[in-house]
Amino acid sequence: MPLVVQKFGGTSVADSQKILAAARKAVRAQQQGNQVVMVVSAMGKNTDDLVALANEVNERPPAREMDMLLSTGEQVSVALMAMAIDSLGYKAVSLTGGQIGIKTDSSHTKARIQSISTDRLKALLDAGNIVIAAGFQGIDENLNITTLGRGGSDTTAVALAAVLDADECEIYTDVDGIYTTDPRVLPEARMVRQVCYDEMLELASLGAGVMHSRSVEFGKKFNVPIHVRSSLSDVPGSIIVDDALTASMAVSGAALTKDEALISVFDVPDVPGTIHKIFSPIADLKITVDMIVQNVAENGNTTVSFTVPRGEAAEAVEAVSHSLEELGGRIGLVDQDVSKVSVVGLGMAKQTGVANRMFRTLAEASVNMEIITTSEIKISALVKRESALKALRTVHSQFELDKIVASDAPQIPERTNDGGPSVEDVVRRLNEGMGMEALMIDDIALDDSQSRITMSKVPNEPGIAAKLFDRIAEAGVFVDMIVQSYASEKIADITFTMPREQFEDALKVANQVCAEFGCEKVESKKTIAKLSVSGVGLRSHTGVAIGMFKALADASINIETINTSEVRVNVVVDGASGATGIECLRHQFADALR
Ligand code: ADP
Ligand code: ASP
Ligand code: MG
Repeated sequence: MPLVVQKFGGTSVADSQKILAAARKAVRAQQQGNQVVMVVSAMGKNTDDLVALANEVNERPPAREMDMLLSTGEQVSVALMAMAIDSLGYKAVSLTGGQIGIKTDSSHTKARIQSISTDRLKALLDAGNIVIAAGFQGIDENLNITTLGRGGSDTTAVALAAVLDADECEIYTDVDGIYTTDPRVLPEARMVRQVCYDEMLELASLGAGVMHSRSVEFGKKFNVPIHVRSSLSDVPGSIIVDDALTASMAVSGAALTKDEALISVFDVPDVPGTIHKIFSPIADLKITVDMIVQNVAENGNTTVSFTVPRGEAAEAVEAVSHSLEELGGRIGLVDQDVSKVSVVGLGMAKQTGVANRMFRTLAEASVNMEIITTSEIKISALVKRESALKALRTVHSQFELDKIVASDAPQIPERTNDGGPSVEDVVRRLNEGMGMEALMIDDIALDDSQSRITMSKVPNEPGIAAKLFDRIAEAGVFVDMIVQSYASEKIADITFTMPREQFEDALKVANQVCAEFGCEKVESKKTIAKLSVSGVGLRSHTGVAIGMFKALADASINIETINTSEVRVNVVVDGASGATGIECLRHQFADALR
């Protein structure tokens, strides 16, 4: 019998009428011949209210008690939903995360799912019930209640769909589907019918709050088609599916994280191991670090900058300060007034000229980019918070996202595994091993065909990156990684990599632009090695970048440039260290390689 999982978010169960409307959707799906599992969030803003209440009692509420408190919101709504279904004359049973057997680790407020037992769920479904699962919660090995992080009901839903081998996971929410960017932020955003897992993973982790990014990890790992649609109407929404099924556009969406903080550590020694020492205490706290950049060293010292979610900046600074006591260096800047604007598209991996278009349009709008990082399918720029909205609107229109016309209703694809391991095999492996949300790495690769150019001390003002990369694109050079780091209010370093056969052409352009703008110097290295780890959910698994830094530090290999994304982490090292580096990484991640 077909099985669907239907998830209803907070606004979709905000009052009794909405609960009844959701109940009717579930009943209808059952009448159409499906077994139905509902996953329900807390009503309306209930979770926010509980957080506020906790903060009134205690400025830093213990995480365990926070979970105990927040999980009650979902318990209220599942019970009401079961009552609503009963009132319509159908059978329903509500279950908490613990009652289902959603086992998690013990990282309170950001727990990861380890295993889900399906016996009870299946028995209840077979007996004709609609099963209503509390979203966002689980239980650890000591029976403590845990929660999966804000927005985590999506993850519960897709995880249940994965273990039950559901035909579809429907995410009912307060928008019609997935838009090119948040339609509440930019009214000109357009709906898209299909997005692929990798794009959605990036968008979600770069600020598109419509999906919890870890839910998309599950979707990708277990090939669950996710259908995002409105709980208020019956119009078809958007689907998140495998990349083969979507058109790969250079830019298919844009996102904004308003609550970002930039932390710069000054005067740290430019030697192997520094990066690892700075970031490992932050990773231990499971704080997601993004946009890691470092400057050209001066007198053996360098500046390392990175961004973290604003709410976690104080903790991150405290953790790094401890490392600096041993390492040397100082926290030079903590800027809580920055936002990250990103564009994402599978097609940009195959095209030149995407980054310079973004830089040019921001320069024309007089928006300064404090930091830039790119990876295969995304470009992020850190800007002052006051220019964030302008920046988002400008890039959104530059890539004509406001002109996209949504195609016809999406077709939910049949679940296939393309000759790979069956869903049962993957679930069994993960359930038995380190857990369902355990890190899974697809590939560890060495690319030793590139060169690097760094322009140091360029004026930190709008237009330079645009000019440089416009000229580079005109010269037909295919730029791979771009990193602009922060040196001070006034100056920045810009590093980029390109195929070695285009090195001379790129160097010529860099020298010309350097002379025009009065930058200090152009530094370059003809033979570099780019080491990459690719997989699913790599940025949210804070341990991946750290594992790479550790393995390379242990082998005394210095890291020159870093790039993080959800699907890939890249580091650039000296060309001579490539072969040793790749061996170290293979060893480090042996257990996580599929
Ligand atoms: P729920 O409570 O149903 O989980 P959320 O508030 O978590 O709902 O997610 C839905 C919201 O996500 C929308 O109201 C919208 O403002 C926001 N959003 C952010 N980015 C996007 C996007 N790219 N497409 C659609 N909605 C988005
Ligand atoms: N109720 C939780 C929250 O508000 C989980 C969710 O809605 O997904 O974050
Ligand atoms: Mg949500």
